Amino acid sequence: MTRLIFLGPPGAGKGTQAQTLAHHKNIPHISTGDMLRGAMRERSPLGIKAQSYVDKGELVPDQLIQDMAEERLSQSDTSSGWILDGFPRTVSQAQFLDELLQKLGQKTVQVINLEVPDEVLIERLSGRGRPDDTQEVICRRLEVYRLQTAPLINFYRDRQQLLSVNGNQALAEVTNDLEKMIT
Ligand code: ADP
Repeated sequence: MTRLIFLGPPGAGKGTQAQTLAHHKNIPHISTGDMLRGAMRERSPLGIKAQSYVDKGELVPDQLIQDMAEERLSQSDTSSGWILDGFPRTVSQAQFLDELLQKLGQKTVQVINLEVPDEVLIERLSGRGRPDDTQEVICRRLEVYRLQTAPLINFYRDRQQLLSVNGNQALAEVTNDLEKMIT
């Protein structure tokens, strides 16, 4: 049973790897960033609330994301496994997820930390062309990552759930390393 959480800074390649693995394993790829971009495109109430945070490179408030994640993880296609990409992103989201998974009877999860040096991240993000990939917003997203998300590395390491993978390799090499590690 594959239940995987992808950690790692913006630009580490979480989305690409999560999508590839989800496809191979035939399980849902749940990206909170993609879900938010969909909501913003549709201008749904959630999308409207999220927009100003995303545009500035800030995190959307925990409660909004947690509600969205709970709703998605409660759908029936998650019973055969899932890959989470972009959630949790704060310690409080991680605690919420813990309780949710307990409630859903899903106890075993593996956490992948994709490691990529800062200078490579900035180069990758600058070439991507997403509306929140301007220089200023990229810098803020990296800072927000360091302050709010990086503490999750120790959170999961302490619980012996963390696997580190070198994300500074060709895409196929990263996929290969991941497939060797995950169950
Ligand atoms: P990246 O990993 O490249 O930074 P994502 O697509 O995962 O991008 O997320 C884009 C934006 O969506 C984030 O900068 C943030 O504003 C918002 N977001 C996504 N997931 C979360 C989350 N779990 N908590 C709060 N905000 C989130």
